[in-house]
Amino acid sequence: MSEYAIQIDNLTKTYNMYGKPSDRFKEALDPRRRSYHDVFYALKDVNVHVKKGEMIGFVGENGSGKSTMLKIITGVLTPTSGTLEIDGKISALLELGSGFNPEYSGYDNIYLNGMVLGFSREEISEMEQDIINFADIGDHLYQPVKTYSSGMFVRLAFAVAINVNPDILIVDEALAVGDLEFQLKCMDKFTEIKNSGKTILFVSHDINSVRRFCDRVYWLKNGEVVEEGDTMEVTSNYENFLKKKSIKTIEAEKVMKNEETVPDIVEVTSAELLDGTLQPVDIVQQDEKVVVKINYTVKNADIRKPVCGVAIRTVDNHYVCGLNTLLDKIEIPWEPGENVFYIEYNKMSLLTGEYYFDIAFFEEHATVPLEYKTKYLKMFISGQYTGEGIVILDHEWKDTMK
Ligand code: ADP
Ligand code: MG
Repeated sequence: MSEYAIQIDNLTKTYNMYGKPSDRFKEALDPRRRSYHDVFYALKDVNVHVKKGEMIGFVGENGSGKSTMLKIITGVLTPTSGTLEIDGKISALLELGSGFNPEYSGYDNIYLNGMVLGFSREEISEMEQDIINFADIGDHLYQPVKTYSSGMFVRLAFAVAINVNPDILIVDEALAVGDLEFQLKCMDKFTEIKNSGKTILFVSHDINSVRRFCDRVYWLKNGEVVEEGDTMEVTSNYENFLKKKSIKTIEAEKVMKNEETVPDIVEVTSAELLDGTLQPVDIVQQDEKVVVKINYTVKNADIRKPVCGVAIRTVDNHYVCGLNTLLDKIEIPWEPGENVFYIEYNKMSLLTGEYYFDIAFFEEHATVPLEYKTKYLKMFISGQYTGEGIVILDHEWKDTMK
């Protein structure tokens, strides 16, 4: 028996990137077999060796290749080149949504998922009660999964993933959605799994939980391992890199957009992302209602017709939607001291991924910023629909137009 649970050598995953869809056809039909694409490296010559019983963390910015690697390990994706040896039964909690059928009830999905993981009906029925207890979602268990909040969904997915007693557990960015109590419960379960000698691969934005649990950490950047080793050392280096980078981008953005603000007029003190029932969320289901609550302190109440603006951007700074109260002809509260104002988005029709809100106040023409908070609030969109682009415009396909 090998002492290694996972051995990955020279693993590379590429995607062919076509400038436009028609290039695909051109390439397929080209008599001289000319190439019409660029090659994008999602993973480049990655080496990862994990001993049985280790808990390994993976950190890296969005798009650095973490999920791609975990998906290759679980067999969801195939590598372009390189070798992969796995010793043990894997159970994975991948990015939200994978492995579940949204039309089935939670209960049926327990069976579906269990069977996908290679268990028989009898074996699953033995685990059933543990899974249900752990998920603790009450009667929602018998409702279709598509009606679940992201929190509920993660509870169920996590309950299945850890109660099937895997040799190797893979967790990709999943814990952040649960409430605190559930997160703590998961942490306890991690410790238990770890102490029983199982192997765990853990991807999280939360550096602290990586520090708390992982024996060793890999840092991925643009598909390559830039550093591997001691948890504290690698995570600190990674954090410093992020800090430097964020200072640079914020400063560059200010210069670019001339966002020097007029001091001592108004200050945004906090902002919250809420769901349709006004509960705080950070993961939003595609197409659900979202409310942003803005708290601000007015220091100068003499400003004429101030304007509030809220913009949504992608992680890589693409401007998705900028709205302001001047465009919508709305007056905002402007009392000396604390004020609150809300913006409600009826349907957050964005593709899955991470987004940020900028929050700003302007003078009456909405040109000179009185206050500008860049990437002040974070939102993660989760959902089933994977189109291309940024937004999902409301649409219908038809064979006739009446
Ligand atoms: P992470 O999980 O670290 O955020 P991912 O593994 O999801 O990163 O993505 C790595 C890179 O691969 C990203 O730049 C992503 O855009 C790209 N990528 C993922 N899937 C595809 C695909 N089907 N076609 C082209 N590029 C892809
Ligand atoms: Mg990912």
